[in-house]
Amino acid sequence: MNITEFKCPHRKKCGGCQIQNLTYEKQLSFKQVKVIKLLGKYHHVNEIIGMEHPYHYRNKVQAAFGERKGEIISGVYQSSTHTIVPVDSCLIEDQKADEIIVTIRKLLKSFKLRAFNDVTMKGFLRHVLVKRSFTTNEIMVVLVTSCLEFPKETQFINAIRSRHPEVTTVVQNVNNKRTSLVLGEQSRVLFGNGYIEDILCGFKFRISPKSFYQVNPLQTEVLYKKAIEFADLTGKERVLDAYCGTGTIGIIASQKAGEVVGVELNPDAVKNAVVNAELNCVKNISFFEDDAGKFMVKSARNDERFDVVIMDPPRAGASLEFLRCLVELGPDKVVYVSCNPETLARDLSFLTRKGYRVKKIQPVDMFPHTEHVETIVCLNKY
Ligand code: SAH
Repeated sequence: MNITEFKCPHRKKCGGCQIQNLTYEKQLSFKQVKVIKLLGKYHHVNEIIGMEHPYHYRNKVQAAFGERKGEIISGVYQSSTHTIVPVDSCLIEDQKADEIIVTIRKLLKSFKLRAFNDVTMKGFLRHVLVKRSFTTNEIMVVLVTSCLEFPKETQFINAIRSRHPEVTTVVQNVNNKRTSLVLGEQSRVLFGNGYIEDILCGFKFRISPKSFYQVNPLQTEVLYKKAIEFADLTGKERVLDAYCGTGTIGIIASQKAGEVVGVELNPDAVKNAVVNAELNCVKNISFFEDDAGKFMVKSARNDERFDVVIMDPPRAGASLEFLRCLVELGPDKVVYVSCNPETLARDLSFLTRKGYRVKKIQPVDMFPHTEHVETIVCLNKY
């Protein structure tokens, strides 16, 4: 498929791929220019690393279910609304996942099951979430339903499996609240072990329905390798992986470090991180469930020493409290992984006024066709 000729029929209503009207080359230069504008004053910006095949890269696909004129539909919410735009296949989503979602929609009809209506709060199936590992090929299907009772459950699961034998686990998640969140509290494994495993940079990671995992695994490897290369570890360092999620960066870095400490706010992610360290027999890593800013305050108070801090905060960037204590702790090196160049620029402005100098800037295209840019910055203390 040639991107210059590609026009997604859903592009206006979906709004997910904001820059798909540009050729991939132009998309990359758009992102490069954005990073240079925001960060160019700190250092030369390396050329953005793009994808060779920037399609169907998403390993996690979710579809909302509803009914229109008596027919069951599945797709995405029209941007900032609760109207479902029917979508069967998407330029950036895994194709197998899309196929499974279409199969489930057809099955609903033959099983006489209704899709959920978020106005009347009636109906059964709300969302389907599919996660796939491109390395192990394991596939997890999560059926988000409005109640626990699942009519003809065994036959339904068997019907999915006979049409898609590649599905390795099926989980039911119950969400009976009036909410825009996809997943509810309660989950029940209907088939398989309830999780999939993926391999990144030679390490194994467990992905459960709720765990955070980067959605473009090919570029995640590129991103993590660069971040760890920037950290320039010799095997002796004490490394902090701040905002560590399920521990991916820290676990991969642990091989080249003396010790790694991870801090993360989300308790589920921390549990996953502990399991991931065990899965990989990594002994020199420990995880703390805490707000990264508060953790830094305690670390500074206790005169902790970190040689390198790798930080990967959410879009809002780091808190001032975090940055203040980071400077106080004074690691020789900070590797800042950011999904938002605006907050990154704000945080760099602070750090460069407090004794740090930007040494390298590397943008990576994690989300082709969307306006999002990921950037890694390496800072040294001077
Ligand atoms: N490094 C991980 C996760 C990055 S996403 C990876 O690559 O997979 C950012 C993470 O920061 C999320 O896991 C989120 O739960 C966590 N987070 C958000 N606010 C936080 C805070 N105040 N303190 C610590 N962690 C936080």
